[in-house]
Amino acid sequence: MADCIFCKIIEGEIPSSKVYEDENMYAFRDIEPQAPVHVLIVPKKHITSLDGCSPEDAEILGKVMVKVKEIAEIAGITNGYRLVSNCGEDGFQTVEHIHFHLLGGRPMLWPPG
Ligand code: AMP
Repeated sequence: MADCIFCKIIEGEIPSSKVYEDENMYAFRDIEPQAPVHVLIVPKKHITSLDGCSPEDAEILGKVMVKVKEIAEIAGITNGYRLVSNCGEDGFQTVEHIHFHLLGGRPMLWPPG
């Protein structure tokens, strides 16, 4: 997607602090961390959001889910984490390329607010 900031990060057109990459996903440090460790895990395929995914995306999204624990370890998380995907207006999604916030390094609040 030509005007998608995360597509540009994946392509290396915008710099990022890479944590992990393979053929399906790219993970990098959030520029405005909300926790001591805050990594964004982004499928390379431009899917807009959980609302925008289709059954054919199940394989790639599944690959992201089973890779989370490894990315958490690489990022230095040792005591649990939270995985969040904001979706749509009420979900406060600001970038329309599906991504998963991996948050750790402190106890998380619940309810999240
Ligand atoms: P969301 O609001 O759930 O769509 O999450 C988008 C996230 O992308 C926010 O946490 C931003 O801080 C983060 N973000 C936006 N631009 C960049 C960037 N250039 N590098 C790293 N993180 C970014």
